Parts: sequence; C-alpha cells; structure tokens
Amino acid sequence: MRPKLRLAHLPTPLWHSTALDAALGTTVWVKRDDMTAGAEAGNKIRKLEYLLAEALERGATWIVTCGAVQSNHARATALLAARLGLRSLLFLRTVAPGVAHAATGNLLLDRLAGAEIRLITPEQYRRRAELMEEAGAELAQRDEVAYVIPEGGSNGLGALSYVDAMREVREQLDLGLGGGPEPFDAVVHACGSGGTAAGVALGARRFDVASSVHAVAVCDDRDYFAEVIARIAGEAVGLEPRLGQRADLVIHDAWKGPGYGMVSPEQRDFLVDIARRTGLVLDPVYSAKALFALSQMDPKPRRVLFLHTGGLPGLLAQADLFGEVWSA
Ligand SMILES: *Cc1c(COP(=O)(O)O)cnc(C)c1O
Repeated sequence: MRPKLRLAHLPTPLWHSTALDAALGTTVWVKRDDMTAGAEAGNKIRKLEYLLAEALERGATWIVTCGAVQSNHARATALLAARLGLRSLLFLRTVAPGVAHAATGNLLLDRLAGAEIRLITPEQYRRRAELMEEAGAELAQRDEVAYVIPEGGSNGLGALSYVDAMREVREQLDLGLGGGPEPFDAVVHACGSGGTAAGVALGARRFDVASSVHAVAVCDDRDYFAEVIARIAGEAVGLEPRLGQRADLVIHDAWKGPGYGMVSPEQRDFLVDIARRTGLVLDPVYSAKALFALSQMDPKPRRVLFLHTGGLPGLLAQADLFGEVWSA
C-alpha cells in the first residue's frame, strides 16, 4: 500500500440546496471539499495526505513549496507541517516587484504556522522549481532534509488523492446519497495547477462518477492546461497503471475574469447572490469562477457534481472587493 496520512475529515458531505438549483437552472450536488478540515481546509489537504506521507517516509524535516501570496496550498502545507512537527519554507509570488502584502487571509495563517516565507517576484516565480531545489540544497548543508512539493501539490502522487475522492463519491452514491447510484452528467470544478483535474478525470471514469469533467481555468489557457493535466495524469497512471482511461475532460478558459485572483463585477455579484440565496460561500479566486461558469454554460449538464475546493481565507483577504456592494 502506498503510504497516506489521515489528515482530512472524510468523507466530505454531498450537499444539496433547492435554492441553488433554482439559481443555476440545473440539479447540482456540491461535494463539500471546502469542509475537509478546519483552517487547513480545501482541496490541497487531500493531495498532502500522500505528499506529506512520502516526505515523512524520506525523513524530511522541512517542507518546501510555492504559490501565489494568497496560496491556499501554501497555507495548508504550512499548517499541516506544523501539525506534523516539521518546518516549512514557502516561496510566495507577489503581484509585482516591491508590492507590499498585508498579512491577511492565507498569509496570516502562514505566519501563524511559523512558516519561513520568501516573497519573490513574478519573474523569479518562473524559476520556482530551481529556487526550491536550491533551497533544498541549502537546507541539506545544515543537515536538514527538505521535501519539495510543486505548485498546488500537483504531480502524479498528489493527483491520486482526487482519484480516491471520486471513489469516496461513488461510495456515497451507492449509499443513496447525492441522489442515488446514477452517475452524474458532469463534474465541474476550478482548475489552477491541474492536479485536481487530472485526478478527478481519472477517478470519475474509474469509479463511474461522471462521464465528463469540466475544469474551469482560473489562469493560463486551455492549451496550457491540456498539456499540464495530461502530464500529471500520465504520472498518476505511472504510479497506478490500473487507472488507464480518463473521463472526457473539457477545459474552459472563458471564465478567468480579469486575471488570476481578480473577479469581474458579474462574478463578484454572483458570489454575493449565491451566499444570500443559499448560504453557500464561494471564494473569488477559484470556486466562484467555476460555479459562475456552470451558471453560464449553454447547454448545461443536467445532473452536476460541483466540487467546492475551498479557498475561504482568500475571500477574507479581499474585503475591499465588496465595498461597492455594501454601499449600494
Ligand atoms: C488550488 C485550488 C484549486 C485548484 O486546484 P488545482 O489542483 O491546483 O488545479 C481550486 N480551488 C481552490 C480553492 C484551490 O485552493
């Protein structure tokens, strides 16, 4: 058996709201991976169950990873490293050289976890793999053992956790949850570094959860993600050859909004509207864009599994986004 830590609170609920169906004009079951844990919650904790197990197996004392300044992955890694008695080093990408970042949201939690933080420019971020390797070598000189996790925890090993998540959904369906054993028409989720999409596409097919997967890009474009997801899925199949086929994967790049971490006014209003009509809180960087995409799809899949990937701290770091809404 491949080593895996038990870090997440599983299975996460399959949640249904008639008000949400009405708002979206289709039947939606929400897989609440925003509820995988407390402050560490979100999709990254699933990947980290495999990645940190491998780190411990290799005797790691430090976990090195990277992400945007409000990275949910970096925050989950920092908190889980603390839980396991490890140190963490985070390379975080600032918006532009010299821009200061308040310690709010994810960055606040990174600090709280005692992570060592190195803020880097977007240009340096392109060399992130190299920077992290160098940091690992530096740590080795101090007799520390570094384990490097790529952006988003997105490699074959991390992606296997979303194959497992699809098995979890299948077990829920077979118990009569989520509307019963019939597979969904589609899984819809936000895509940022591709690992979730790779695992979901493999697992949805393997466990007959859905015939298609809609990955809604929040950055880059369709060609970029087609390549990245194929590479990660290839790595995952290398680790688990029985996986073989994936579900049909549709990568959407029309709903990124103005850019990574930025929402359009319509997307922001959608996020507010969904919260008020259903009590479901989305985040502006990922889940709001993915659910907004579903609301705009034409034709729309009829029975949908929406994977809520978390991101609440990112919302809490963007209070200024809503000034206009509250004053209206
Ligand atoms: C990282 C993240 C995603 C995207 O998952 P990837 O595996 O990186 O594509 C989606 N939603 C939230 C909230 C995330 O933090």
